[in-house]
Amino acid sequence: MIPYGKQDITDGDIKAVIDVLTSPHLTQGPAVPKFEQDVIRHCNAKYAVAVNSATSALHVACLAMELGAGDWLWTTPNTFVASANCALYCGAKVDFVDIDPRTYNMCPVALEEKLVNAERQGRLPKVVVPVHFSGQPCDMRVIHALSEKYGFGIIEDASHAIGGLYLNEPIGNCRYSDITVFSFHPVKIITSAEGGMAVTNNEKYAEKMALLRSHGITRTPSLMTKPMEGSWYYQQVDLGFNYRMTDLQAALGGSQMSRLSHYVARRHEIAKRYNRLLADLPVITPWQSKDGHSAYHLYVIRLKLDEIGRSHGEVFEALRAKEIMVNLHYIPVHTQPYYQNMGFKLGDYPEAERYYAEAISIPLFPALKEVEQDYVVASLTELLQQ
Ligand SMILES: *Cc1c(COP(=O)(O)O)cnc(C)c1O
Repeated sequence: MIPYGKQDITDGDIKAVIDVLTSPHLTQGPAVPKFEQDVIRHCNAKYAVAVNSATSALHVACLAMELGAGDWLWTTPNTFVASANCALYCGAKVDFVDIDPRTYNMCPVALEEKLVNAERQGRLPKVVVPVHFSGQPCDMRVIHALSEKYGFGIIEDASHAIGGLYLNEPIGNCRYSDITVFSFHPVKIITSAEGGMAVTNNEKYAEKMALLRSHGITRTPSLMTKPMEGSWYYQQVDLGFNYRMTDLQAALGGSQMSRLSHYVARRHEIAKRYNRLLADLPVITPWQSKDGHSAYHLYVIRLKLDEIGRSHGEVFEALRAKEIMVNLHYIPVHTQPYYQNMGFKLGDYPEAERYYAEAISIPLFPALKEVEQDYVVASLTELLQQ
């Protein structure tokens, strides 16, 4: 069985976690701030707030930007549901911007058209969430310029993209956004088992997100609304959650960070080999913009269905029958029943829907062996050439 993605765990990772297990602090100890520092140093951002998932990071990021009832959040339909759900947690409304058929990211032209209409109707978004799909950065310069013109905030969903570059700078430096969010789920670029992080250069947002991850409770006198009553004292000054990352998770994440550049390089190596080996098959291989260096979380092929004697579903199931655990990223969010109940319908975002009807994510992870890759290619060749 070859999965589409898989974590890579070394003896060093295991030792880092065991060291925490035998230390005084399983949670709220030194490993979390250390992991945050590792990520900040890599990204060249000012502040980081580690939490228990990217979903939690998206939620507290939206709250820090004061997204609430009556506000709109826009994202792409080609994403995991969490990029949209975060708005609903805050009582805000969600809308989508269709994708660019070449990058599968939010299309900046479609975004601008939608903004022009929204301005006329008085329903401009408060927050836009571009998702760096498969690790390839969105056109952030254009999206940022639009944010200045139309007055919205930007949260980058970089769940796929830690270790990638945009205009030769690390994704996560927040040069073109307010906050960037990473996921450390095991299928992503680096893992902390479960975990996520929000990075920002805005001190107020960082303070607010740190408060919200732990019940809205502070022990910092400057954040309190009345004087300390003693050394036992803390104040709840906001309504927060328990979204804390444990030290076990942070130790694993921190240990993985040391291999981030190796992982991304290895993913590029595998992707390049796929590009070469799949060149003559009736598939579209991932197009890469010169503005970015992808973290290559996913390698997605699009089937040229009019040149193939099988349906998309048949190819997908045949690969799985061959123990190649391909996947499909993503079912357009607006076609999910929960979103259809909100009024979205098939046909709303045709590029994302067309993409969904042709896309397959094939195995890509650092430990993928050449023989395994050759088996994937041979299986695809057999299925697509008859
Ligand atoms: C994985 C993922 C998330 C959610 O990450 P969790 O850490 O599992 O909460 C959000 N957005 C995108 C694009 C993702 O791929």
